[in-house]
Amino acid sequence: MINSKQYDVIIVGAGPAGSNTAISYKHLNPDLNIAIFDKSQFPRDKSCGDAIGPGVINALKRFGNEHILNGEPEVVSTTLFGPKNIGIQNYIPEVKNKEDSVVYVIPRLDLDNRIFDLAKSLDVDSYEEYRYLGFDRTKDKKIAVTFKNSDGEEETYLTKILVGADGANSRVRKNLNLNQNTDWHKAIAIRAYIDSPNYLEIFKERSLMFEINVSALRGYAWAFPSKDTLINIGIGMPLSLFKKENKNINEMLNDFVETLESRGVIVDNIRMEKSYMLPFASSRPKLAHDQVALVGDAGSMINPMSGEGIFYGMESGFLLAENTHNFLKNENEKINQGIRAYEKSFNKRFSKHYLSCALARLVLQSPFMTQRLLAIASIDQHTIDFVVELLFDEARLTIKEVVLLGSKFLLPLWLLKLLKTTN
Ligand SMILES: Cc1cc2nc3c(=O)[nH]c(=O)nc-3n(C[C@H](O)[C@H](O)[C@H](O)COP(=O)(O)OP(=O)(O)OC[C@H]3O[C@@H](n4cnc5c(N)ncnc54)[C@H](O)[C@@H]3O)c2cc1C
Repeated sequence: MINSKQYDVIIVGAGPAGSNTAISYKHLNPDLNIAIFDKSQFPRDKSCGDAIGPGVINALKRFGNEHILNGEPEVVSTTLFGPKNIGIQNYIPEVKNKEDSVVYVIPRLDLDNRIFDLAKSLDVDSYEEYRYLGFDRTKDKKIAVTFKNSDGEEETYLTKILVGADGANSRVRKNLNLNQNTDWHKAIAIRAYIDSPNYLEIFKERSLMFEINVSALRGYAWAFPSKDTLINIGIGMPLSLFKKENKNINEMLNDFVETLESRGVIVDNIRMEKSYMLPFASSRPKLAHDQVALVGDAGSMINPMSGEGIFYGMESGFLLAENTHNFLKNENEKINQGIRAYEKSFNKRFSKHYLSCALARLVLQSPFMTQRLLAIASIDQHTIDFVVELLFDEARLTIKEVVLLGSKFLLPLWLLKLLKTTN
């Protein structure tokens, strides 16, 4: 059944990428008719480390929405462990491109619902329990998008732009005949929640704990403190290696729990284990198509070093709205120009950053290099700050940075220490 309601923009997926696309369009042009469809009923859970950093805070602040973080405890530092138990703790440095150098850990069940609510409050039509099935192009150059509702009935809606924000297994992406990322450009990770009455005591403060290349071969495990005694834990590794080594993700999680316990962390009430894929931005599909665009995980935007994806997804939604909102009353050619401009501005902003993170991923996949990097970082503040900026900001490797880091890798540690003390 074709519904009489027509939209300027239909967004499939109400995760952070989809919701922020809707929020951005409505702020930039309140007259637009925007609809957002999701197969789930919100609030809905999503497998994630739940960590959001300066980028997400910035994206919320852009339209005055940072109040949704009120009352959440701030995470102030990172603790990195590598092979041979080398561990370093570092305050999250002032990042260059953002105002706030703070991280929050908010369960996605909550966070995504808060962001979706922001969109709903802006007169965006929201359809929950509507599963996207596919789209067609009509003779008068509209896109007809078909969904199955909770009663099993099919409904079709017309739009000028269709946005695929439907996550790592995006069906919109499939309908554009774009391949999924290969296993090399994907990770598999599992998340669980635990209660730990002594986590803050063990790590001295609210610290994000990363364990690189130890429990997860060529990957990492994490423990991120949320509110009170709630801790999000998880572990992930490249999918190609996971399959080759015939690993079991639940066993990997159990091993990591044992490692946590061996560090003195009390682990109670392990629950809500859920695994999922992370499509890395080291291999991105074409984002701009004829009246269709991809944002967030549907467009493979996850940082290949850190696994962070919420910020890039939200920012892609903003960039799409920024580049197209003025053209929606024009002909399709103009709209398509805007969609192409979106892809160009996204790539201009993030390509070098992603490339730098992909290189860092290669370094961190070697236990020897991880050990060496952490040893250097433990005596050299600049190196640890740079690693943390790759994790939490949009840092990129310049030639100067490569030469500087390369020389630190080559120098013996005693000489590096000496140079530091004489400086
Ligand atoms: C284990 C793990 C840990 C992670 N940790 C972090 C972290 O700590 N910090 C971070 O920033 N990122 C993290 N990420 C990445 C992050 O989860 C994603 O990058 C982020 O969720 C992308 O947001 P999105 O809106 O693009 O997609 P999603 O959040 O996946 O939202 C997609 C939405 O589309 C809906 N949908 C899907 N198919 C259909 C359909 N056919 N019809 C209608 N609706 C549909 C889904 O119901 C869903 O609500 C992690 C990922 C994993 C797997």
